[in-house]
Amino acid sequence: MTKITGFSRILSNFAINYSKSMKEKSLGSAILKGKCPQCREGDIFPTSIFSYSKLTEVNHRCPHCQAVLVPEPDFFYGAMYISYAFSVALVVNVLIILNLFFEDPEISVYIITVIISNIILLPLMLRYSKVLYLYWLGKLQYDPLKAKK
Ligand SMILES: [Zn+2]
Repeated sequence: MTKITGFSRILSNFAINYSKSMKEKSLGSAILKGKCPQCREGDIFPTSIFSYSKLTEVNHRCPHCQAVLVPEPDFFYGAMYISYAFSVALVVNVLIILNLFFEDPEISVYIITVIISNIILLPLMLRYSKVLYLYWLGKLQYDPLKAKK
């Protein structure tokens, strides 16, 4: 009998810990969803990724915890370099894939594929360069208490 209750206690402890960890947002999913570095709840961007005109607009403050997301006016200027690195990585990947799977096509095929994939992925690259830049240099630490507010 004691064995069974001991086991069920372990099980319920596991369930409690599991639900706790489910509530705490992981760093990876917060970055993927473009959430505030401090609370991982509020959105960094005010509009969806499909909004063409306000694509790169950033909330000045986190709507959830009020953390300052734009520490200085030109803060996101450096994100340009990350977005540039994304573009270079994209070009390299397109070249490798075309070369491996399409038996070295004509140069025009390379150029058109690079341009089209760049246009399609541009919104993603522009947004994630800012998200990564904010997480990297934004000096905001994750605070689970801010998430619960
Ligand atoms: Zn926040």
